[in-house]
Amino acid sequence: MRPLYAASRSAALSLLVVLLAACGTTNVNYVTGEEQRGAYTWAQEVQLGTEADQQIQAQFGVYDEDPALTAYVERIAQDVLSTSAYTDPSTPAEIRNTPFTFRILDSPVVNAFALPGGFVYVTRGLLTYLENEAQLAVVLGHEIGHVLGRHSSEQAARAQLNQFGLLGAAILGGVVGGGRVAEGILNYGGTGLQLLQLKYGRDAEREADQAGVAYAEFADYDASEAARFFVSLERLGEQAGQSVPSFLSTHPDPGERAHTIPQLAAQYDPQGTRVVEAEYLAQIEGIVLGEDPRQGYTENGVFYHPELRFLLDYPNGWQTQNSPAAFLMGEPNGQAVMQLTLAQAQSARAAGQALQSQQAVRAQAAGALSINGNAAYRVEGTAQQQNGTVAFSATFIEFGGNVYQVLGLTSVDGFGSYGTAFRQTAGSFARLTDSRYLNRSPSRLEVTRAPGGATLQALLRGRTLPLGLTEQEIAIMNQTDLTSRLPSGESVKLPE
Ligand SMILES: [Zn+2]
Repeated sequence: MRPLYAASRSAALSLLVVLLAACGTTNVNYVTGEEQRGAYTWAQEVQLGTEADQQIQAQFGVYDEDPALTAYVERIAQDVLSTSAYTDPSTPAEIRNTPFTFRILDSPVVNAFALPGGFVYVTRGLLTYLENEAQLAVVLGHEIGHVLGRHSSEQAARAQLNQFGLLGAAILGGVVGGGRVAEGILNYGGTGLQLLQLKYGRDAEREADQAGVAYAEFADYDASEAARFFVSLERLGEQAGQSVPSFLSTHPDPGERAHTIPQLAAQYDPQGTRVVEAEYLAQIEGIVLGEDPRQGYTENGVFYHPELRFLLDYPNGWQTQNSPAAFLMGEPNGQAVMQLTLAQAQSARAAGQALQSQQAVRAQAAGALSINGNAAYRVEGTAQQQNGTVAFSATFIEFGGNVYQVLGLTSVDGFGSYGTAFRQTAGSFARLTDSRYLNRSPSRLEVTRAPGGATLQALLRGRTLPLGLTEQEIAIMNQTDLTSRLPSGESVKLPE
């Protein structure tokens, strides 16, 4: 997390209004040119996308430390877009006049996605797993295909009721719980993220794959190159303990795509020829690899945030997830969750009182305390959620000009077991002074040439692995394995 926790409530609310106002309409799908059912007009899609984009930026952060890389991805994206129906004179002006926005998100997760109305995202993690422009072109083309295919609108029309369920205003800033409270952990975030969880159907995914291949081929890229990236995705999915990237989970089986993508690409005549590896690798060299410790990282049961200069212990064995908006902790069996966020308040007491005054909240205890010398305020009680009542312990801590919130949620029955963990975690919040943790800098990508006969494993010797990445993942990133001898002179991606 970082101080831009800004997924504002008002943005979420206005988005809800748009969604409520939306009713069934007929859309033109600009991938196929055919009519289909949709929930939104194009103007509504643009409004939805614009508002959700604010939340996406707040949630993940934009990777903007290399303007040349940003411009490079933008150039390829515009090139691919220009081969689609977007520029076709028969396409209505309101579509052609909608500028598309392409962003690199500051996340190590391997992912790409789109929002309605012309918003396309790739993560810096994804960029490191690609090997050339042709692969990037297909990924961008696939996401452009979701936008022009109006797939969100189509899906929302199909799943209107579910969507209202998804959008149900989550009190206490986000986490929703049913029987297994931690299932809500992935649902955390603003409406923009909930929008992303509207999974497209398989048909929409196949259509986006076809679009991705077509637009890349029209831009003279060899789209069959993308097959190797889908093999990488499949290998990543097989990694033990690796949370499945959503680019994988919401898409056709990557093994299947490794076959279908070259078949689709072979239909184009003339065939695209551009692969463009050397420039691609030169552009991504220096990109942050793995987690960026400056934005917070975990080590041996402690969460460190060097920029905000604090640390927090979390319970042994709990799973964690860090983002610019929140640090989440989940009990491994899903019985309880905690989240650390910034509270929008002048003081710990004001934040606590605002929580107490929420209609759905019944406070059973509230009062001021001091945590490692910092003024704090704690509220405990129950809260009415859509799926029933949950028990919570919320501690607000003043530190460094901010008010932090450590919120624990569990079932009413579970509070006896987890209440102590909630309090202990909040009670561990302290100033970070140890320079070993304060000065941790991120790992960056170095592109080098393999000497004759070397293996990736040998090349990794003596290099520090990036936070959150294994040797195996570096091998997948190179679309090879650890022990094969690399061809002499082959480009290799390594942590600096
Ligand atoms: Zn897709």
